[in-house]
Amino acid sequence: MSAAQAARSILTRLHEVMASRLHPQGKLNQVVDVIGEALDSEVCSIYLLREGALELFATRGLAQEAVHVTRMAVGEGLTGTIAANVETLNLAEATAHPEFQYRPETGEDKFHSFAGVPIVRRERAVGVLTVQHVDPRRYEEVEIEALQTVAMVLAEMIDNAGLVDAEDAGGGAALSEPDQLSGLTLVKGLGAGIAVFHQPRIKIEHIVAEDTEAERQRVYLAFDKMREQIDQMASQAEFGVDGEHEAVLETYKMFAYDEGWSRRINEAIDSGLTAEAAIERVQQRTRMRMREIDDALLADRMHDLEDLANRLLRIVSGQIGTAASAGLRDDTILIARNLGPAELLEYDKRRLKGVILEEGSLTAHVVIVARAMGVPVLGRVRNARSQIREGNLLLLDADQGVVTARPSPSLIEAFEQRSAKSRQRQAGYAKLRDVEPFSRDGTRIMVMMNAGLRDDIPNLNLTGADGIGLFRTEFQFLVSAAMPQRDRQTRLYRDVLDAADPRPVIFRTVDIGGDKSLPYLRSEHSENDENPAMGWRALRLALEREGLLKVQARALLEASAGRTLNVMFPMVSEPWEFDAARAVFEGQLAFLRRQKKKLPSAIRYGVMLEVPALAEQLDLLMPKIGFLSIGTNDLTQFLFAADRANPKLAERYDWVSPSILRFIHRVVVATAGQEVDVTVCGEMGGRRLEALALLGIGIRRLSITPAGVGPIKELVRKVDLEEIGAAMNGWLASPPPDMRRALEDWAGERNIEID
Ligand code: PEP
Ligand code: MG
Repeated sequence: MSAAQAARSILTRLHEVMASRLHPQGKLNQVVDVIGEALDSEVCSIYLLREGALELFATRGLAQEAVHVTRMAVGEGLTGTIAANVETLNLAEATAHPEFQYRPETGEDKFHSFAGVPIVRRERAVGVLTVQHVDPRRYEEVEIEALQTVAMVLAEMIDNAGLVDAEDAGGGAALSEPDQLSGLTLVKGLGAGIAVFHQPRIKIEHIVAEDTEAERQRVYLAFDKMREQIDQMASQAEFGVDGEHEAVLETYKMFAYDEGWSRRINEAIDSGLTAEAAIERVQQRTRMRMREIDDALLADRMHDLEDLANRLLRIVSGQIGTAASAGLRDDTILIARNLGPAELLEYDKRRLKGVILEEGSLTAHVVIVARAMGVPVLGRVRNARSQIREGNLLLLDADQGVVTARPSPSLIEAFEQRSAKSRQRQAGYAKLRDVEPFSRDGTRIMVMMNAGLRDDIPNLNLTGADGIGLFRTEFQFLVSAAMPQRDRQTRLYRDVLDAADPRPVIFRTVDIGGDKSLPYLRSEHSENDENPAMGWRALRLALEREGLLKVQARALLEASAGRTLNVMFPMVSEPWEFDAARAVFEGQLAFLRRQKKKLPSAIRYGVMLEVPALAEQLDLLMPKIGFLSIGTNDLTQFLFAADRANPKLAERYDWVSPSILRFIHRVVVATAGQEVDVTVCGEMGGRRLEALALLGIGIRRLSITPAGVGPIKELVRKVDLEEIGAAMNGWLASPPPDMRRALEDWAGERNIEID
């Protein structure tokens, strides 16, 4: 008999048992009979997890008095070992196994051969199905396969009948304990909440197929669709991580077209499973195999295969959509491998207490968006999706770079104390709201904030920032399903100006492209971009799609009627690009003048310095512009040739490395004494140690994330600019082995907090 036939005949009979009107215990009693007979085994038993221990729930062949009496801990004996390791055991001589334990009440001493498979729910064992035989023989592969398939059906039945405690089912053996996972702090902050997966697990409703041919057809179509999606993705930067996009995609392709995978799913369908159950069954088997191989590279590939299997499941079951569309609970901590900025913006920020990513890097746009939303983010948490269960209570401490899953009461209490302290500190910053940031030696530092959404505006008053030094206009485009029309743009810009008045707002024209791709704005350029961050993006795109820039120029000019318009262009690489962009604005201005519309009282044009090449032509650019804003996020990635969104490079290059500091210092020197404001508006300026270094090299204007305004004001008030300037001069001339350390020591000696 083939594995498929063996499983199929058992499944058909199990299906009858499950459809019967018997109560759950009656069903289990019948199940052990069906399996025992089919596998010609004297013994068949089912152990289920109850109150943390494995309890004998039904048996054919062992003493009936042992039912609901024999209990063993997870990890204890053969059955406990199977549950603990979520692995199959197949032994000709059970007593020869080192973990063997004899239970006299069961009367099992006469049996020699033993096979057992875990009953798995959400990747954890909630029970064990065993067969035993008097003759010492190893069970054949087909029999083991049949047992594993049956165990899957049992898992479903057990779940439906509520035979396993919710706690046991949710956490399983290894996931009921508190567990601390560490990662990289991407956005600081503390948050407690319930784990919600960005891509929810698919609930498999039916396990046993009514019509095998129809199931085969469903999988066939789903594979087709999935391959189509993967092929499309190659041109769409769907993952929001450009650098590793390519590698992931290659792996996806390899799996999507892997004949072995689709064949195994078809075999599982032959054994009587539905399409969904067959995909899950094959996935379970792969997971078990992979667990035996301890190889980090393979583990990564396993992630990819999991993603793909989930995609296939979503297609086949028609359950598409993310947790954002499912109605969030009030205290959600979102778990994802990675997110794009637009995906995060779909969530209601009031309900998000934190985000945990398996990937992520400090300057990825999704992180910038989260920072703007005030949501703490912990990135690079390896295996977050397998170590954390949907519904787990999580304590996220992004300040310390850790998250605790399933915390004990004492951990919860300690966390609450930390939260209270953190709130106190925040209250301290709030007191600085109306205090002007003068340095100790009396220089007024401009501390502005970055923004991009209507929701960000209240932060101006909450933080007491000096204005908006970078308004990322593309965020409005990112949150819209279609291109925002001119009147919507005008309204947003006018509202921002009204709220900020009299403080200045610097609008940056759209920086679309790279990881900020828009589904409704694609072209053959972006589709063919192998490296979108250095590709058809920002001003390059805007100058070519002149219509887009014209509409935005009109909206900005009209919104600024009677006031000063500050506008800056992103990703300028050569002065002529600035001229071309300015010409678009001047053209619109002339048009409005002809229309006798009210014009801005003044227009100040500026440029973002984020492409290093521009620094070599500053002398040509300076006479043309009113201000310059150094975008250290992009500048760093271009200086180091290190993709800002690539998690593998996230910690490799330091913002306070001599290369970056010398580069910015050179710009400060080149612009000194001219009528051009120089600001740093990258993420680095919002971090105290980095800001200290910037003050030391002569930066006097910062535009930073709103949460950074309080801490940076506090820092400024403690620093003597001349002193840090002298220290920095020395360090730039002859860099210390560890610049970060040098800055820390300098601040430590003066009791200046910089973390
Ligand atoms: C930067 O590149 O530093 C910057 C501020 O712009 P963005 O992060 O939006 O690319
Ligand atoms: Mg940039």
